[in-house]
Amino acid sequence: MVTERMYEKLAELVVRKGVNVQKDQPVVINAYVHDAPFARLVVQKAYEAGARTVTVEWRDTELMKMAFRYVATEVLTDIPQWQYDKMKDQHDKGACYVTIVSEKPGALADVDGEKLAAANRATFTKMADLIPYTMNNVGQWCVIGVPSVDWAKAVFPELPEDEAFERLGDAIFAVTRVTEDNDPIAEWNAHDQELIAHCDKLNGYDFKKLRFTSGLGTDVEVELVRDHVWVGGGATTPGGVYFDPNMPTEECFCMPLKTGVNGTVYASKPLDYKGRLIDKFWLRFEDGKAVDFGAEKGQEALAELIGFDEGSCYLGEVALVPYDSPISQSGILFFNTLYDENAACHLALGRAYPENLKGGTEMSPEELAAHGANSSMEHVDFMFGTADMSVDGIREDGTVVPVFRNGNFVF
Ligand code: ZN
Ligand code: ZN
Repeated sequence: MVTERMYEKLAELVVRKGVNVQKDQPVVINAYVHDAPFARLVVQKAYEAGARTVTVEWRDTELMKMAFRYVATEVLTDIPQWQYDKMKDQHDKGACYVTIVSEKPGALADVDGEKLAAANRATFTKMADLIPYTMNNVGQWCVIGVPSVDWAKAVFPELPEDEAFERLGDAIFAVTRVTEDNDPIAEWNAHDQELIAHCDKLNGYDFKKLRFTSGLGTDVEVELVRDHVWVGGGATTPGGVYFDPNMPTEECFCMPLKTGVNGTVYASKPLDYKGRLIDKFWLRFEDGKAVDFGAEKGQEALAELIGFDEGSCYLGEVALVPYDSPISQSGILFFNTLYDENAACHLALGRAYPENLKGGTEMSPEELAAHGANSSMEHVDFMFGTADMSVDGIREDGTVVPVFRNGNFVF
């Protein structure tokens, strides 16, 4: 059972280790109104850590649904200048960002898909030059989750509400490494070191490409960009502040060459795309591009994702996650990428992370593109790792190095 003390430890963990709040730094917290008690705890801990100001940006799914129902597309897509100015000001003052997730899976399933895509596209366009602040780790950011009743009901539909909530809470705290009597910060430090050690090995091999196969039918070669960097665990800002962007995290991730992906990928878990569920789907890639795809459920949402913009039919991330990771072992499908992406090897359609390329965070969009990095307004992870997944690393000279057997690292 999750106790008050554990919530307090989680709040402390996200502030001290997650974003690693610095003295006199402004903190911005994105939280749902139904998570107000926990958000207040994070505010308290942030002030205790020396935050200069703490601002909470409240979210409410019901209000969002109303906006999509009543407000015209041309109004929804007219993003006000003050929204841009506010975020720009936060960036100028060096803010860090905490995002608390707990949303009900498929919450926006009934929203007009085209309207939603148009609004998202307008926001991305308006905010385009502000995205690198977190994308390139200029300022610290961290995403964590807490249980909500609606989320729990979707994860455990067969259980009574209170039991479902308790089960989800137990799972979230366990995979986030917070228990009643542990030292979560020490555990996170050790965990980060383990992920970094795997990345060091992968970087040492400097593979030209990876080949993934699974019993589901996946058989795909993913070429990596030259001078790629495997990243895992925390990240460091240009000012030298170490932070953990995702809690939990179990992945070592890298940058695929935009035009270097060939073969077929079968997803191993459903994908919640902007509130709509895509399940039992596959994609076929030719020279990097998803040229064919199918889904037993959510075909339309998948088509929307792939057709979202020029880059959303190409990959921007390839990530290795051991099948033995605590999230995978929990056997729970969270219907939330923060958790599910850490249960299995995954790929992402859409933009690449510049940190996965040597010197990438200092490169212009044109330079990144010249190195084979994909760019898109989207970045959507989907899981394809399985218990029987094999991964081979293929070096420039053709040498084949086993990386994964039966879903886990062999080194
Ligand atoms: Zn990832
Ligand atoms: Zn990703």
